[in-house]
Amino acid sequence: MNLRIGYGIDVHRLETGIPLFLGGIQIESDLGAVGHSDADVLLHAISDALLGAANLRDIGYHFSDTDPQFKGIDSKILLERVMELVFDKGYKVVNIDSTVIMERPKLNPHIPAMQEVIARILQVDLDAVSIKASTHEKVDSFGESRAVKAYAACLLISA
Ligand code: MG
Repeated sequence: MNLRIGYGIDVHRLETGIPLFLGGIQIESDLGAVGHSDADVLLHAISDALLGAANLRDIGYHFSDTDPQFKGIDSKILLERVMELVFDKGYKVVNIDSTVIMERPKLNPHIPAMQEVIARILQVDLDAVSIKASTHEKVDSFGESRAVKAYAACLLISA
């Protein structure tokens, strides 16, 4: 039995007038995340955790943020490609634990929908996908809604 731990962190700037994609779904919000892809900070943190656990470098190594083929891309596609790499290396996911730091909107009502999307892509039960929502207590860029951050930890096991 070969267990591998991984973690990932991602940050995106927030701006008004663009859509907010988080955890593979679109969320009603006056602020959206800015990025080369759809800027889904949670899927990016999870992708980096998975890549790290499998020692497969990082998301920017596989999907360059200057490559036109990834412009505006749905991050679910990136996460699916990450899972192909993880499976190819002989691992499957045991569980994910994650936290999104965002002052507004409230994310808790959206968490079940995000869990469903992520569990499907990772090919695990819903119970294996934990998503926590936290604010930054109105402090610094995250608390002032100028940016959003996500942390993710994962455990892989040899398939
Ligand atoms: Mg990112």
